Amino acid sequence: MAITTTSEGAPPHLALFPTAGMGHLMPFLRLATMLASRGCNITFITVQPTVSAAESDHLSSFFSTHPHIKRLEFQLLPYKKSEFGSDHDPFFIQFEAIGNSVHLLHPLLSCLSPSLSAIVADLLVASSVSRLASDLSISTYTLITSSARFFSLMVYLPQLAQDKNTKYNAGGGNGYIELPGLGPMSVSSIPPAMLDDNHILAAVISKNLPSLFKLNGILINTFNWFESEAIEALNSSGVAPHLAPILPVGPLESFEVEQASDLPWLDEQAPESVVFISFGSRTALSKDQIRELSTGLEKSGCRFLWVLKARKVDKDDKEGVEDIVGESFLGRTKKMGMVIKGWVNQEAILAHPAIGGFVSHCGWNSVTEAARLGVPILAWPQHGDQRINAEVVEKVGFGLWIRDWGWMGEKLVHGNDIADGITELMLSENLRARAKEVEEKARQAREINGSSERLLQGLINSFKSKE
Ligand code: UDP
Ligand code: UDP
Repeated sequence: MAITTTSEGAPPHLALFPTAGMGHLMPFLRLATMLASRGCNITFITVQPTVSAAESDHLSSFFSTHPHIKRLEFQLLPYKKSEFGSDHDPFFIQFEAIGNSVHLLHPLLSCLSPSLSAIVADLLVASSVSRLASDLSISTYTLITSSARFFSLMVYLPQLAQDKNTKYNAGGGNGYIELPGLGPMSVSSIPPAMLDDNHILAAVISKNLPSLFKLNGILINTFNWFESEAIEALNSSGVAPHLAPILPVGPLESFEVEQASDLPWLDEQAPESVVFISFGSRTALSKDQIRELSTGLEKSGCRFLWVLKARKVDKDDKEGVEDIVGESFLGRTKKMGMVIKGWVNQEAILAHPAIGGFVSHCGWNSVTEAARLGVPILAWPQHGDQRINAEVVEKVGFGLWIRDWGWMGEKLVHGNDIADGITELMLSENLRARAKEVEEKARQAREINGSSERLLQGLINSFKSKE
């Protein structure tokens, strides 16, 4: 949907700055195309090197098809992994490494022409970027790539740390915390890394939180109807007083969605007959869990399209599909389904009429894509923000979440249970109807006077009036 801007003034020039991983890159690329199609000049900052091949491949193809968006490449300062303690998750290390290199951007951004009006940066570098922006005398925004619900938890974190010895421990880890305006949140949904002061993730978050009070605005990839409770809690200062203005501008969308999924097998399947299984860009199930999932798919008797990942970082993922799930499974299920290893266009798949359900880890981009495209979810969160995101799916009512399945690989979920879950997902008329309703609400948020579109347009106009 291309929307022409109505208010007068020179086009604003904005810099967009994501951090590491496809889950952070995708929403920034979407925001870039949405702002560009509404008349903004965009400079998109990309760091070298990237952690995954998916990031570098995606960036090359994006800039070749979007020549009007300028790419500003930026070489990270060299670092040793050991500088970052004992957790060697390469994505977490990259968050820190990018934050430590931000000052190098000053000369690159100060000489841009026309000069910048603002920078929109990932939360995980917001603190160093807001210092940089203040030196450059430009406005600073952040784009939250997770749910408003998870963001509320993040901003409540300092308060939570103070409560640790009281309410949190009173639950013995099985209890609930009360987030003002959000009601009870199960402690077991909070990623343990966030509660561990020595964890690199907790350190990155707490370093960047103070900047949230100084920013010009906080964009979130969500929409009012979808997460009204959390948005209200953030707006009313319930979870933290004096936050920058909250701008739910989602669901962010790509413009290439209409393109074919490029899977002739899918084109031959009956409408809403295929279950799509994917755990995002950086989550690998154990070999045992992969085996149980293959058993479950076969037992469900349902048509399936499964994107298989065996390693967290794609560059390390060298085995073939047959080495992982076995030739005999592939032979037996030849007519029933497809297993793909490698990058697929997930949005195009979710948009395909043959897809009737989505077994998802509930990465926030996956959740918002399923919402926008009206696909019900079987939530199988694995780590990070995914349980809190699954709570949103459950509350909105367009998905199932079987909490007993555990997360972080703590339990092996058996094939029979997986088959039951998939059957329930694919047979539920209620979920399907609710997913269509969610799709309609997402569409309305993006209409010209819709809640998200109004905020995005208001933001662009505010830059124009400052020119
Ligand atoms: N994605 C995709 N193809 C793949 C794997 C992932 O297009 O093969 C996209 C997916 O549509 C989403 C993003 O990559 O936009 C992954 O983000 P999400 O928040 O769902 O999960 P994460 O990868 O961060 O765990
Ligand atoms: N982790 C993993 N596999 C993954 C993603 C994360 O083993 O695909 C590990 C990671 O190394 C980290 C821990 O799980 O030490 C907790 O990760 P977290 O839940 O914080 O991940 P996030 O989703 O926030 O990136």
